Amino acid sequence: MLTAIVGINWGDEGKGRMVDLLSEEYDIIVRYQGGNNAGHTVVNEKGKFILNLLPSGILREATVNVMGNGMVIDIEHLANEIERLKEKGIVISSKNLKISDKAIICLPYHRQQDVLEEERLADKKFGSTKRGIAPVYSDKYSKKGIRIGDLLDYNILSEKLKGIIEWKNLTIEKGYGAEPIMFEETLDWLEKYGNIVRPYITDVSKYLDDSKKEGKKIMFEAQLGALRDIDFGIYPYTSSSQTISSYATCGAGIPGTKLDCVIGIMKAYSTCVGEGPFTVEMFGDEAEELRKAGAEYGAATGRPRRVGAFDIPASRYGIKVQGADEIALTKLDVLSYMDKIPVCVAYEIDGKETLDFPTGNELNKAKPVIKYLPGFKQDISKIRKFEDLPKEAKEYIKYIEEATEAPIKYISVGPERDAYIEVN
Ligand code: GDP
Repeated sequence: MLTAIVGINWGDEGKGRMVDLLSEEYDIIVRYQGGNNAGHTVVNEKGKFILNLLPSGILREATVNVMGNGMVIDIEHLANEIERLKEKGIVISSKNLKISDKAIICLPYHRQQDVLEEERLADKKFGSTKRGIAPVYSDKYSKKGIRIGDLLDYNILSEKLKGIIEWKNLTIEKGYGAEPIMFEETLDWLEKYGNIVRPYITDVSKYLDDSKKEGKKIMFEAQLGALRDIDFGIYPYTSSSQTISSYATCGAGIPGTKLDCVIGIMKAYSTCVGEGPFTVEMFGDEAEELRKAGAEYGAATGRPRRVGAFDIPASRYGIKVQGADEIALTKLDVLSYMDKIPVCVAYEIDGKETLDFPTGNELNKAKPVIKYLPGFKQDISKIRKFEDLPKEAKEYIKYIEEATEAPIKYISVGPERDAYIEVN
């Protein structure tokens, strides 16, 4: 069984929590794209964990976790993340953590370049998380990346780094006018954190291929959502990687393999981090109330998220590009304070209503067409059966299900592992 679990919206849909829940049935969890620019928050009986790089299955002892070739890995951040989890009693060894030799290392100069570029852009900035993600992906495709596998031979690594730093300083020193990157310092950094990461380096493609043949159940875990995909998202307000399910096996290391199932994680309302068009955005007290109710502050950065009504055109698009077979609707409990629940049922562009999500500059012109559904006005966080939900909550779910044409299989009503409803 090969399943991808992906975001339908702008990210932060609560994927981490759903992966933590659903991973119980899986032998292997794979992260296949992105870096530490987003975070998953998982609350379970061991405590609350923020995972930026490690796959969510790391919190279960019997689960093997794989970091695929599609990822960009800041090894300092990873070393700290491993350390923090170990302090809380989580066992991490080469048995339950395997890192692709082909994954690309995100270095301090990538972070620095990110900051320099955001400063240069000033008020035209994209709202980067300044974790170096765009520069490191750019270097990967310029064939100037350093791979995790390069940590296995420090002589080769040293040679490679020398050439790359010479090239990078053309940008950092000569371009931005910043202090040049120092070779020795960078090599020391690679050695220091490389020593921590090295035991986990694996030929992940072979491992996954063998596991697949043995009939192991594999889950591919995405970061961010469909609308942040580099090709199919709201470009250039996207991430620098492919957040879509079609890339899962590729970024994991087993291209050519077909998925059996795609689970889309979709939030009961909308949130968005960073800049760019966000048609359903709420402002003022209305926004503040929703933000507070949903604790919508970035897991990686603590930034307040932009919030809005559930967006049907955007979610329909997200479901389509993800090829989602079933949906987990998250954070429904957050809406319990509302007297009436706003839903964006269509976009109005140049006076015409449409259900189609525009992927080009037309999106800037889109205005939300809002309809209100009755609120359910009660705490639903303890409810575990669909039939026990208040009538208005059932109506809201059914409305969304019909409008998005995707079956809602799970409803999450709280951050805790058991706070969900399976719809039969
Ligand atoms: P991810 O990157 O998609 O995992 O999203 P986040 O890390 O931003 O997770 C969403 C946040 O909402 C986390 O703090 C979760 O613990 C929390 N959360 C997840 N599902 C629910 C839910 O159904 N209800 C509530 N109230 N909180 C939830």
